[in-house]
Amino acid sequence: MKTLLPTSTAGSLPKPTWLAQPETLWSPWKLQGDELISGKQDALRLSLQEQQHAGVDIVSDGEQTRQHFVTTFIEHLDGVDFENRHTVTIRNRYEASVPTVVGPVSRPKSVFVEDAKFLRQQTNQPIKWALPGPMTMIDTLYDAHYQSREKLAWEFAKILNQEAKELEAAGVDIIQFDEPAFNVFFDDVNDWGIACLERAIEGLKCETAVHICYGYGIKANTDWKKTLGTEWRQYEAVFPKLQQSNIDIISLECHNSHVPMELLELIRGKKVMVGAIDVARNEIETPEEVAATLRKALQFVDADKLYPCTNCGMAPLSRQVASAKLKALSAGAAIVRNELINK
Ligand SMILES: [Zn+2]
Repeated sequence: MKTLLPTSTAGSLPKPTWLAQPETLWSPWKLQGDELISGKQDALRLSLQEQQHAGVDIVSDGEQTRQHFVTTFIEHLDGVDFENRHTVTIRNRYEASVPTVVGPVSRPKSVFVEDAKFLRQQTNQPIKWALPGPMTMIDTLYDAHYQSREKLAWEFAKILNQEAKELEAAGVDIIQFDEPAFNVFFDDVNDWGIACLERAIEGLKCETAVHICYGYGIKANTDWKKTLGTEWRQYEAVFPKLQQSNIDIISLECHNSHVPMELLELIRGKKVMVGAIDVARNEIETPEEVAATLRKALQFVDADKLYPCTNCGMAPLSRQVASAKLKALSAGAAIVRNELINK
């Protein structure tokens, strides 16, 4: 990226009401068959246009092509039975009924590659595509086959690598792996989680990112955040090893969170997508608030490596709020960009 402080979003944006129920996670599609395919493409066009109008530099599909950031990918795999469900506790936080791994997992055909090609046709801007990370995938399933979280994660890493290579060939500039589980299972992250992620990016020439956040603004997450105390030092446990990893970019929650900004020093040298927009509240940040978060981050991230971003996806927000927050992000980044240029 030649632009200084290029903006992007962590991932999802709200869907139009005719495609899925707004302000709802896991909302079922309102269309079917061919209508659903063209409906998703229309929604992708709209979402892209919203990002462009807001001045976002690195654009995405706004995750209009998926119902959920993890399960939609898993639905396309063999070895997982969606009828056979078990209740598990996701990220030690909330209970959910999840599908069961009943045999060897594999990817019979690509999952998002056609969607990525479609996005590529719509714009010459750099594009980012999100995939779930291996550790977050295993945490969203009941495993009756491998009986080992680590073994299953390695299998998913191989599958993700196949998908990522095809996304790269489709013209994706940055492939992002969403790993909120990295904020919870610290020992596993250090023992094999980061190694699995490196397996998922093996051989890629495009840029790679890992997104680690404190989750969408849903009740289970906001309740959990209340138990974390005044200083959130979770990142501290995984940053040293991430700094040593092959991942190019680390996407983090920074605005309104209790993460001490100096923790970013632990990943000095990496590009950092700094979350400067809170996705857990409807109040719109002022450009000055965004700028203040970015300035704080600049103490620990070199200017050419700082990518202003949102804390997490904005799927659960209204379209109006999400759109206003995107504009605030661009305006805030512009303030700091000018300061840097005029220095
Ligand atoms: Zn997130």
